[in-house]
Amino acid sequence: MINENYLRLSESYLFTEISRKVKDYKEKHPDADVISLGIGDVTQPLAPAVIEAMHKAVDEMQAAASFRGYGPERGYDFLREAIVENGFRRRGIDIEADEVFVSDGAKSDTGNFQELLSAKCVVAVTDPVYPVYVDSNLMAGRTVVKLTCSAENNFVPELPIGHVDVIYLCYPNNPTGTTLTKEQLKAWVDYAIREEALIFYDAAYEAYIQSEDVPHSIYEIPGARQCAVEFHSYSKTAGFTGIRCGYTVVPKTLKMPLNVLWNRRQCTKFNGASYLSQRAAEAIYSPEGKVQIKKTIAYYMENAHLMRETLTDMGFKVYGGIDAPYLWLVTPKPHILTPSPIGKGETSGMTSWEFFDWMLQTAHVVCTPGVGFGDQGEGFVRLTAFGTHENTEKALHRIANRL
Ligand SMILES: *Cc1c(COP(=O)(O)O)cnc(C)c1O
Repeated sequence: MINENYLRLSESYLFTEISRKVKDYKEKHPDADVISLGIGDVTQPLAPAVIEAMHKAVDEMQAAASFRGYGPERGYDFLREAIVENGFRRRGIDIEADEVFVSDGAKSDTGNFQELLSAKCVVAVTDPVYPVYVDSNLMAGRTVVKLTCSAENNFVPELPIGHVDVIYLCYPNNPTGTTLTKEQLKAWVDYAIREEALIFYDAAYEAYIQSEDVPHSIYEIPGARQCAVEFHSYSKTAGFTGIRCGYTVVPKTLKMPLNVLWNRRQCTKFNGASYLSQRAAEAIYSPEGKVQIKKTIAYYMENAHLMRETLTDMGFKVYGGIDAPYLWLVTPKPHILTPSPIGKGETSGMTSWEFFDWMLQTAHVVCTPGVGFGDQGEGFVRLTAFGTHENTEKALHRIANRL
């Protein structure tokens, strides 16, 4: 017998369908130079400090005296201490090294952490959402409720009317690129304390925050140490999508002994992130490393600002792109586009997929249909700022020329 919960999962067709459409189009139009502003992967190389640290770590592996085999399941002390110092204490947040668990990335941890909870827990996620939170809970047989994030509420989810046991929040948000202020996040911490609920806070895009009043960590909010687990990743922070490293903070002051249980879980099912990845991650906290990763983030944010400005000037309604490398674009009404994909005179915005097709066929630009992130994403597309300057500019010119 198979786990029938897997049959409840909807076909994960978003990125498959995108690649299929792009491949078809390229086959029919071999000369088209298609630019992708679709995938959430970085394009810039690793920081020199990271490369240097990895070379050094490789060299250590060639001598018995410096060779490293299995490491601690929670991660090496050198990395956990650097995380605590640079990620938290520097901001006045009290997190201890034994509350930090190093992993191979935030996808595994955001997907796996729900194992510690009863199958009876009711889970709330935003809509649109990073699909990992929903699917991992459906696989475990849980009920998942959706919190609407729309232009009407400025993509700030409203508190559930009744009780939920777990809330997944991701800020800066993938896919909308929007953020919560400290005050807006405090409302969630207060809810969680009142309802004895848990918040799973995904801070994968924390390094992209530019605005003053946007919290970098949920632990900036009083009371969060009682109710929140926080996930971090070096993927977007430092281009580690191929290196694989991240970490999760599980406070010892939570109402439940999740710190002990997560350690137990990791010791059973995980043998630690690789030594090379951990030395690579440590290097981003060095003085040179810090400067270098900031520069790359600034490079992407320059794209984001250019995209935001240019698309707004073209008449698009754009969200995000200020504290995040994502822009959430309202699909335009078809009659502003030529040639119109639906016929002139339509008054409603196009569907996400209709606009995707228009962008691909007319501007040779790939975006991600918002509806792939949930029903509330219909009528939006996501654009990423992870391209090169050159391609970003070229894509914007093409869109402008086709309007
Ligand atoms: C990219 C991303 C992550 C990071 O995943 P890794 O496994 O660390 O590469 C986590 N959460 C969200 C919302 C993301 O977009």
